[in-house]
Amino acid sequence: MENANDVNGAGKCDLCTDDAKIVLPYGPHKYCHSHFIAFFEKRIRRTVRQQSLVKPGEKIAIGVSGGKDSAVTLHLLHGMISKTNEIEAVMIDEGIPGYRDVSLEMGKELCKMLDVPYTLVNYRKEVGITMTQIKDAIDMQPALGTTCSFCGTFRRHLLNKVAFEIGAQKIATGHNLDDEVQSICMNFFDNDLKKMARLGAVVRNKVDAGLVPRIKPLYETPEKEVIAYAALKELPHYSDECCPFSYQAKRNYFREMLNNMENELPGTKFKILRTFQQMKPFIEPLGRGVEISYCTRCGAASNGGSCGTCRKIESLSAIHRFSAKQEKGRKLSCTTTKNM
Ligand code: SF4
Ligand code: ZN
Repeated sequence: MENANDVNGAGKCDLCTDDAKIVLPYGPHKYCHSHFIAFFEKRIRRTVRQQSLVKPGEKIAIGVSGGKDSAVTLHLLHGMISKTNEIEAVMIDEGIPGYRDVSLEMGKELCKMLDVPYTLVNYRKEVGITMTQIKDAIDMQPALGTTCSFCGTFRRHLLNKVAFEIGAQKIATGHNLDDEVQSICMNFFDNDLKKMARLGAVVRNKVDAGLVPRIKPLYETPEKEVIAYAALKELPHYSDECCPFSYQAKRNYFREMLNNMENELPGTKFKILRTFQQMKPFIEPLGRGVEISYCTRCGAASNGGSCGTCRKIESLSAIHRFSAKQEKGRKLSCTTTKNM
């Protein structure tokens, strides 16, 4: 693991006489198995408490993909709040055979293990097209954009839609420190302060307008430590090849740049996050004041005219034979698989 190494011969744990199993150069810290688990969980509990991510009695939807981030989020929130809050997993099948179908099986296994109900929806029924079909359309016409730009828009739309339908007051996602810092840098490099202003541990949406606030319990937790924790805790999760369409993601450049910097200058990712936290009060007003209206095509909350999902679908329609029947089907309520 980058900067969180399983080390032999690294000496003793900082906190006991056991051998250190993990070295975190940004501290620097050296921890044995049990002190790493305690350190990791304490930081996430602190994030949840300091940022007031969850209030007693709120129903929390948790986006579960079957990967390590969402597995750790589900496992920890279940341990922390299941006595005071109702939680339900929301799984989304983008239609990427050999990848998402496999990872969702792991998500279901974890839900069953923790006795957490889940709702499963898929792009094919909800949006009328799978990511594999979108990838084919993009190959025919690259100007359409990247697979991830379609996928991200559709996933946010469906997560919100399902969370709203099941009566959740918040949606918890598995975004970790690396994801957050990549997003900060992407928006900075894109000169998009408005979008940057909406980053943070809480995305304050208006639930009465049909937009469910989103929370990120892992946003101060480095990705490599999430990998270590999921492995040490033996949580069922998908850890094989990443998405076959991810090579198109712009985020990859930022991931590589930030990982290189973190290797050379440990603590860089935390410093970027802290800088953003100090900047946020100044840029926050830029992210506010967007008048919420409703999509003229599907009725979803939008910031004017058609929503992002409908605009994306429209852009595909010239390339892909996207029939009116498919689009009409999308307006029906969610077709879900429930497991209670
Ligand atoms: Fe979707 Fe891109 Fe993630 Fe693949 S890598 S699941 S295409 S957002
Ligand atoms: Zn719409």
